[in-house]
Amino acid sequence: MANPAERYFDHASTTPLDERVLEAMLPYLRESFGNANSIHELGRRSHQAVDHARGLVADLIGAEDPSQIVFTSGATEGNNWFLCAYPDAWVSRFEHASIFERAQHDKHRWLPNHGYEIEIPAEAETVSLMLVNNETGTIWDPPAVEILHTDMTQAAGKIPVPLDNVSFASLSAHKLYGPKGAGAFYCRDFPPESLLYGGEHEGGARAGTLNVPGIVGLGEAARIAKDSLADNLQHAIDIRNVVLEELGSVSGMHLNGGPRTSPYILSISFEGVVGETLVIEMDKLGFAVSSASACSSHSSSPSHVLGAAGVPADLARGTVRISFGKANTAEAAQELARSLVTTLKNLRTL
Ligand code: PMP
Repeated sequence: MANPAERYFDHASTTPLDERVLEAMLPYLRESFGNANSIHELGRRSHQAVDHARGLVADLIGAEDPSQIVFTSGATEGNNWFLCAYPDAWVSRFEHASIFERAQHDKHRWLPNHGYEIEIPAEAETVSLMLVNNETGTIWDPPAVEILHTDMTQAAGKIPVPLDNVSFASLSAHKLYGPKGAGAFYCRDFPPESLLYGGEHEGGARAGTLNVPGIVGLGEAARIAKDSLADNLQHAIDIRNVVLEELGSVSGMHLNGGPRTSPYILSISFEGVVGETLVIEMDKLGFAVSSASACSSHSSSPSHVLGAAGVPADLARGTVRISFGKANTAEAAQELARSLVTTLKNLRTL
């Protein structure tokens, strides 16, 4: 039987756990269960595993020193941490909900934009701007500002990440074939004031017993991602091209994301259909795709990202996000595109 992951085209919402990552984690779920802050043998073993993982994450993103990496529960935590510590930060309207909603709540200032182009006003000294957008794949270069936080969740382990200009960065393990609930926060100079009180974990930067299996999994996922980055990137480009070629003749089709997008994410708005309906019909055919980001696909309001880019609400509602991964094959990509064409025709004649 074909590998079911071949027909999974929703890697921007999460990726399957790599077998090697699972193998690396298992000892820390079984016999090596020590608290990484304990001084006995079991504790020291966990501590060493965490330190090793810290080095691997630092290597993946090109950090100068492993001490610049603080382990978190994921990018949501890093994103909220940054905004809580820097209430003066300016924020782009394209950010993931974990930045966007926090910024709305705390009344941060918004960076102006023209389509996908973002303007950095001279007075914006502290900025949060993501590297790759999770809905459209749009890539933004880190601007030269005094303090820059970048959400690199959709970039780390997928495309080379530039750390020039970057003071803080957030990422999640489960976007790069690691476990859910583990992530890292890069702090170039020093961690911001702690969000959580309750212990001297992570050198006092973040309280809470360390998720050792999750951290070990993130480290192994980072190691594998670094080794295979170029091959995986080429694979994503090839598979994406298969889908685009096959869809070539479809009418009323608009590619989202602007001039520079990650090859891992393809966001298309189709006229005259509803994205969720397309997703459900594709699911019946065994394909997993998404209508927007997984975090907002249960909401009926159109995506704030497409809204910010100026995509009309009606068209935004007809959006499908196809996101690629290493198990996708050219055959599955072709079948996906053909099924999409047939489904579109059926829905439009209803
Ligand atoms: N930022 C981006 C760009 C994301 O795609 C996601 C996950 N959808 C997050 C942040 C949040 O990650 P997590 O849910 O793992 O905390």
